[in-house]
Amino acid sequence: MPSTSFQDLKLNRQLLNAIDDARYEKPTAIQQKAIPLVLNGHDLMGIAQTGTGKTAAFVLPILMKIKYAQGQNVRALILAPTKELVLQIEEVTKQLASYTDLRILAIYGGIGPKTQIEKMESGIDIIVATPGRFMDIYLRGNIHTKQLKTLVLDEADKMMDMGFMPQIRKILEVIPVKRQNLLFSATMPDRVLALSDEFLKYPERVEVAPQATTIDTIKQVFYEIPNVRTKINFVEYLLQTEKFTRVLVFTKTKLTADNLFKYLDRKKLGPTRVLHSNKGQNTRIHTMQLFKEGELKVLVATDVASRGIDVSDVSHVINFDVPNLYEDYVHRIGRTGRAEKTGVAITFANEAELFHIANIEKLIRKPIPQKKLPKHIKIEESTFDEQQDIARSIDHQKRKEDPTFKGAFHEKKARPDRDSKWNPKNKVKGKKRRR
Ligand code: AMP
Repeated sequence: MPSTSFQDLKLNRQLLNAIDDARYEKPTAIQQKAIPLVLNGHDLMGIAQTGTGKTAAFVLPILMKIKYAQGQNVRALILAPTKELVLQIEEVTKQLASYTDLRILAIYGGIGPKTQIEKMESGIDIIVATPGRFMDIYLRGNIHTKQLKTLVLDEADKMMDMGFMPQIRKILEVIPVKRQNLLFSATMPDRVLALSDEFLKYPERVEVAPQATTIDTIKQVFYEIPNVRTKINFVEYLLQTEKFTRVLVFTKTKLTADNLFKYLDRKKLGPTRVLHSNKGQNTRIHTMQLFKEGELKVLVATDVASRGIDVSDVSHVINFDVPNLYEDYVHRIGRTGRAEKTGVAITFANEAELFHIANIEKLIRKPIPQKKLPKHIKIEESTFDEQQDIARSIDHQKRKEDPTFKGAFHEKKARPDRDSKWNPKNKVKGKKRRR
């Protein structure tokens, strides 16, 4: 697929600013395919799993279409199977709408509807909801659907598995017939196809099959490492003690890439260079050349930069952090073990990132063995900011895992502070792997 930027997708300035803030550098495959179709008004069937950027793929064009706050009544409705997913979609939507005045509301069961209804009364543009709670509030007469122009069913397969079909049918009866419909599903069993026949008009179909195969000649391993500073200690240790010849170190952000590069350079652990999208084209080409010719021992790179790297004998890939887009893991480690050579991929994961390791294992359909950090690696204190980030991220993941959820009519009782990291009972204890 030709390389497309967010600018190419004709998104407005407010959205581009928010995308910058979210540190998305380039649209993912599903975003490249889906956004133009949704902007053109097509109904859409999207087949994509979590970790592909599917949420922004439908949220961005919706934000683009409804632009700014208008009137009292909801204009876009996003339905999702669980409270956790609703909250996650709400968060992405608010983040991407942060330069607009759009009013976004999440409604879900488990807490009384009063606050949700009050918020709605002061005017609303987008609702993200579980089907059951949406219908409850609708039946009380608090939702006016006349202005509704876009409906999204996210994780349609899961909604069907959870028995939401009756509520979805009722919702379809009470919203305007003339509207745009988007259906997203991780899988495409017959019953989802039947739903799409019933619910979509001349849909365009977009699909991203996650690239899931990791080559067998790559030895994969991961270490749990509590924070950035300790990760740096460990990179230093590996470069000093192991026979690494040509190492690619991947980081999620340019800032981490720059900081790590400066550290390695200062400690003379190279020769080393850094590659990311803020570097000019010529510098990037030159750096790649040096790496290809074997002039560098270490190249620190971000994911976007990694797409174009074609070097055949990288001895080691180090994932300094775990990518949010799981396919990036496959791209990253595919830089080693090429041309039937053996390679080693070493991943560093802090406590919050362990969750993603488990998901990556599902994607590549094999376990990544864990190794213990050698005893003499100095374990540093986390900075306050990093501690907060990790705690926030674990909090999110806990909300995502909701084993007690029993469907629309059995949602659990309100315990607003149950999941909060501020609740001392919820102190995350530690070192156990979360699977
Ligand atoms: P999703 O598949 O929607 O659950 O998204 C998975 C993760 O990818 C989330 O953490 C998003 O913030 C992140 N994400 C979405 N789009 C992009 C992008 N274009 N570049 C980088 N990260 C993204």
